[in-house]
Amino acid sequence: MISNLFNKTKKAALLFALLPALVLSSCDKDSDEDANPSHVLNKKAVGESARDLLSAEKYSKVVVELQYAQGFEPTAAAVSNLRSWMEKYMNKPGGIIVKQAAIPAPGKSAYSVKDLAGIEESYRTEYTRPDTIAIYFFFADSKYAEDTDNSKVLGVAYRNTSMALFEHTIRSMSGGIGQPDRARLESVILQHELGHILGLVNAGTPMQQPHQDAPHGRHCDNTKCLMHYTVETGNVVQNLLGGYTPVLDQNCINDLKANGGK
Ligand SMILES: [Zn+2]
Ligand SMILES: [Zn+2]
Repeated sequence: MISNLFNKTKKAALLFALLPALVLSSCDKDSDEDANPSHVLNKKAVGESARDLLSAEKYSKVVVELQYAQGFEPTAAAVSNLRSWMEKYMNKPGGIIVKQAAIPAPGKSAYSVKDLAGIEESYRTEYTRPDTIAIYFFFADSKYAEDTDNSKVLGVAYRNTSMALFEHTIRSMSGGIGQPDRARLESVILQHELGHILGLVNAGTPMQQPHQDAPHGRHCDNTKCLMHYTVETGNVVQNLLGGYTPVLDQNCINDLKANGGK
């Protein structure tokens, strides 16, 4: 799902809270870029950095920062699949750098998008710098705050380079008897949320042909497509059990290509 944050007052408060920590830790960073508060302030809506992520025009490299609540790390296979997927669709001749680390489990019973943004602001270390654009994934130790009995959200993209996976929920729906393999489910959710950050569907990356399922927001109208709305809810599990793994359809691929991707 997509949720954008535009609460400026809250952002300002978080920034001031974060500054001392950034300044204190800047001595052990490779560059002063991470200590520059302008990076903390650079918050845009989902899809706004699509072209910068897809093309090599401004950034030839991308760094993927994966942070997980202690004990909720993604499978190595899903991380490897994410890298392959990025190589396939994103023009980054300078390379794709994946960084992975645990953070102390926040231990909340559920996370709102504001909660996730707060965690990101406390722990994220990689920000966009000259020639390198950075994206962030958090793997949560609990569920989404707006889950219901009938609809469980597995992932969310909430800013131009910010995403989260509800790893606790993903684990409850995978890996057991009569459930799909966890790496497959994680892979699909990682790729779907990244698809949103890359501007799909009609959200920063213009459509070459109409294919938006408007009643379901920024999703594709093809039920087989990775960007169909059912992918990020528990519904995808049935498809995976049936042996089908959702991939981008031609309409979504054409959109990415036309906006600097491949
Ligand atoms: Zn979605
Ligand atoms: Zn599609």
